Amino acid sequence: MSAMVAMQISAPGKALVRIERPLPEPDTNELLIEVAACGVCRTDLHVLDGEISARYPIIPGHEIVGRVAAIGAQVEGFSLGQRVGVPWLGHTCGQCPYCHAGQENLCDAPLFTGATRDGGYASHVVADARYCFDLPERFSDVEAAPLLCAGLIGWRALRLAGAAPVIGLYGFGAAAHILAQVARHQKRDVYAFTKDGDEEGQDFAQSLGCAWAGGSSDDPPRLLDAALIFAPVGELVPRALRAVKKGGRVICAGIHMSDIPSFPYADLWEERQILSVANLTREDGTSFFEAIGSIDLHIATQTFRLEDANEALQSLRSGKVKGAAVLVSRNANA
Ligand SMILES: [Zn+2]
Ligand SMILES: [Zn+2]
Repeated sequence: MSAMVAMQISAPGKALVRIERPLPEPDTNELLIEVAACGVCRTDLHVLDGEISARYPIIPGHEIVGRVAAIGAQVEGFSLGQRVGVPWLGHTCGQCPYCHAGQENLCDAPLFTGATRDGGYASHVVADARYCFDLPERFSDVEAAPLLCAGLIGWRALRLAGAAPVIGLYGFGAAAHILAQVARHQKRDVYAFTKDGDEEGQDFAQSLGCAWAGGSSDDPPRLLDAALIFAPVGELVPRALRAVKKGGRVICAGIHMSDIPSFPYADLWEERQILSVANLTREDGTSFFEAIGSIDLHIATQTFRLEDANEALQSLRSGKVKGAAVLVSRNANA
């Protein structure tokens, strides 16, 4: 095959359009990957809406599962046909103070898959091999896709929560449904907050072992040690602050959020903290895949054809997806 197909965003606010282009050659440190499945993340909506910094035109998608189709001259440790995962962090400079301090997620000159370098809403993608992951075999292509952002950025957020035996998850979508299971495995008690009135979502949360599920306006039946916010809704920050104990943490796990309304200082006092999560390090990925190696994770997915990427994004925007939306190619195993 000498051509690739993709669904591309030409400018913010424009629907994705199908394009064909010649198959790219991998550079010396890169892999050419034939895409089997690519998760649809809320960040893709932020790219589509022009709410975060991105390059246009851009092929979105940063939860990519595929197989190595060609290998750059200096790549080590990968073989043709090997299954790999491509995450959001696409490249770092290796030279800035953050890279030197082990905080490559904050690199001054990064590239992000599906935002500043082309991503996985495509038949093929080129990725820097140094940022690709080997994936646990027991997950199918479709199941593995949402692990690459929803799973592992959720994992970074969970680690920022510290020991926190009682945690709340605000927004019960792709990330929270994975993290709830990981947190239960760690013997934490999990409280799930869905959109108000979303009884189906609340039933889903309880089916995954959550001790309680309610609407985001509800008070949980006990105070939380930490709250993780996955919904892009600024009003949730003061609400979550009021739901955590003294010394509790509120962790904002998304890349974009509506404005946070003002709130009384008393809600923050007593050493409560608000943190944000930005991007991921490669260590987040390796520790996450190691951590879930022994967990019987149930990954809920709704699949769409690559050509139906607009429909997949619309379903995500309207809150209709239970679990994670995933674009699949014909050769994906589910
Ligand atoms: Zn850097
Ligand atoms: Zn993402």
